[in-house]
Amino acid sequence: MLNKDLLQMDTDNVYAEVTEKVNVFRRKNPEVKVISLGIGDVSLPIVGPIIEAMHKAVDDLSDMDTFKGYGGYYGYDFLREAILKNEYQKYGFSIDEIYVSDGTKTDSTSILELFDKDSTILLANPTYPIYRDGAAALNRKVEYTNLDENFVMQVPNKKYDIIYICSPNNPVGNAYTKKDLEKWVNYAIRNGSVIIFDNVYQGFVRSREVADSIYEIEKAKNCVIELRSFSKVASFTGLRCSYYVIPNQIYQDINVVWKRRTMNRFNGASYIAQRAAEAVYLPKTQKLLKKNIDYYLENARILKEGFKKAGYEVFGGKDAPFMWVKSKDQKTSWQMFDYFLKELNIVVIPGIIFGTEGDNYIRISALGQIENSIECIERMLKDEKEG
Ligand code: PLP
Repeated sequence: MLNKDLLQMDTDNVYAEVTEKVNVFRRKNPEVKVISLGIGDVSLPIVGPIIEAMHKAVDDLSDMDTFKGYGGYYGYDFLREAILKNEYQKYGFSIDEIYVSDGTKTDSTSILELFDKDSTILLANPTYPIYRDGAAALNRKVEYTNLDENFVMQVPNKKYDIIYICSPNNPVGNAYTKKDLEKWVNYAIRNGSVIIFDNVYQGFVRSREVADSIYEIEKAKNCVIELRSFSKVASFTGLRCSYYVIPNQIYQDINVVWKRRTMNRFNGASYIAQRAAEAVYLPKTQKLLKKNIDYYLENARILKEGFKKAGYEVFGGKDAPFMWVKSKDQKTSWQMFDYFLKELNIVVIPGIIFGTEGDNYIRISALGQIENSIECIERMLKDEKEG
């Protein structure tokens, strides 16, 4: 009776292997300071104005007059309006097209329920593994395409119904330019495809040639669902709140259908998290969040420079918190992982987790603390010197 589709997921196994190897090493070497450059989680805490908003929301729940029980299935209007006003009004959207949820991990594959089971799905190789395993759990078949020399997916000759684009990208740490996105939007319009655009790292974008939202691209409203999250830009990874936009133009009644689905499958994100998310848009919060992200980007710059000094080719880390580091000597990503753990006591993520094309790479993350990055670089350079 067990759902066999669930057995198709393998990400957990691979991450579990990383954790297990690190735990075994720690048990054998309790005196060693192991530093993780593998973490995908943020390390800076939630900023003051958001904390204040949460305290107030807790008080609301304690008072008969302001108590909130089940809330809007698609999010409270106060938050949807704040999202609309600050992010999407400029592209001509209405509140009707905005949904609040409890995380893009869930949203990125639950959105597949909107599409026919036989829809063809295209993913990048390497990819954020949740798209792959989430699709497998829903018994959806996926195909892959490799990245070009700039680590961008090129439009295929063949038609796919659904295309996942993650930009800024996890794992390779680059961002698609507006020109790259124009090609994809044109492809989708030509083929009647829908792009699922995962923009959870949007706050890290600093380059002018990279769009804040894919809806900056003409006609994207006809073919793109954009996903965003407060996780990485406002340290909501534990608090949980996300949002996405389904443009009315994609199909007639698309939002009528999706609202019905959502009403039956989801009881809404927490009131406290939604009040916290509303406070993200306060000007004083925005200033503090920019400072936090500048800190991570500075960490990325330091890491990138350090790895280059140690002789590695490093990609990404400019408009995103991740870097993609190529093996110097044809090592597989697990061999690189073992070398970093055993010789340098540094945890990295083997690229193979993200797809077969990741097997000569590791992913490192700038979401940790700068002093740890500096220590990692010192260890690498010392090891280089000593041969
Ligand atoms: N999408 C990508 C590309 C991610 O890297 C992550 C988290 O690492 C998520 C989505 C998950 O976001 P959330 O915390 O909103 O579930």
